[in-house]
Amino acid sequence: MNKIIKIALDGPSGSGKSTIAKALSEKLKILYLDTGAMYRAVALKAIKCGVDPFDEEGVKTFIDDIDLKIKYENGSQRTILDGEDVSGKIREPHVSMAASNISSLKCVRLKMVEMQRKIASEISCVLDGRDIGSYVLPNADYKFFITASADVRAKRRFDELSAKGHKVDFEELKKEIIQRDYNDSNREFSPLVKSKDCIEIDTSSMTIEQVLDAVMSYIK
Ligand code: C5P
Repeated sequence: MNKIIKIALDGPSGSGKSTIAKALSEKLKILYLDTGAMYRAVALKAIKCGVDPFDEEGVKTFIDDIDLKIKYENGSQRTILDGEDVSGKIREPHVSMAASNISSLKCVRLKMVEMQRKIASEISCVLDGRDIGSYVLPNADYKFFITASADVRAKRRFDELSAKGHKVDFEELKKEIIQRDYNDSNREFSPLVKSKDCIEIDTSSMTIEQVLDAVMSYIK
């Protein structure tokens, strides 16, 4: 039987983790789990229910029974909430900030981590997130920490959203990225941290191909 391999890709918002994780999953023919999409879906659920993302009691009313499923269609992840494909909706800018806020709640993280560990226990995969190497899969075979300067990350998000037709202000986006970094790094439970045993790659002046080559050079 082939060994199940697990790859953790962590780092701040907009560092390019998801692009690299997706490319890596295609190259190695393993599953890609975008854990950020799961927190985004929880945020969307709260918005739909009219619950403030910081209101832990309100979030507790739905989190244990949340109807959230991750599916794969032609190799791409679809996020299904209450039976609806919300893969596009969860990328809207107002959901990003709500996701960052709601992800600080312990009840949310416990539920998401349980789901993520279950998926990762069954199949070889690459997971991207904030706490994969440090908390979700501390025994992952490979752990990478992907970073880039705030300016570069804001520019990447700006280009991505503009290409999708969203009207966005660069300075606003940069401010939001810095705020999300702060939230992720300073929450009490499973914050964004660089685990001691991870390989750090600063992608600020690298192309996707260069980052992918760098990551692949460690994977045997
Ligand atoms: O990666 P992405 O920007 O889609 O993630 C959305 C939000 O979900 C992040 O701002 C972060 O606060 C949260 N998140 C997290 N832990 C993860 C993945 C994402 O807290 N493993």
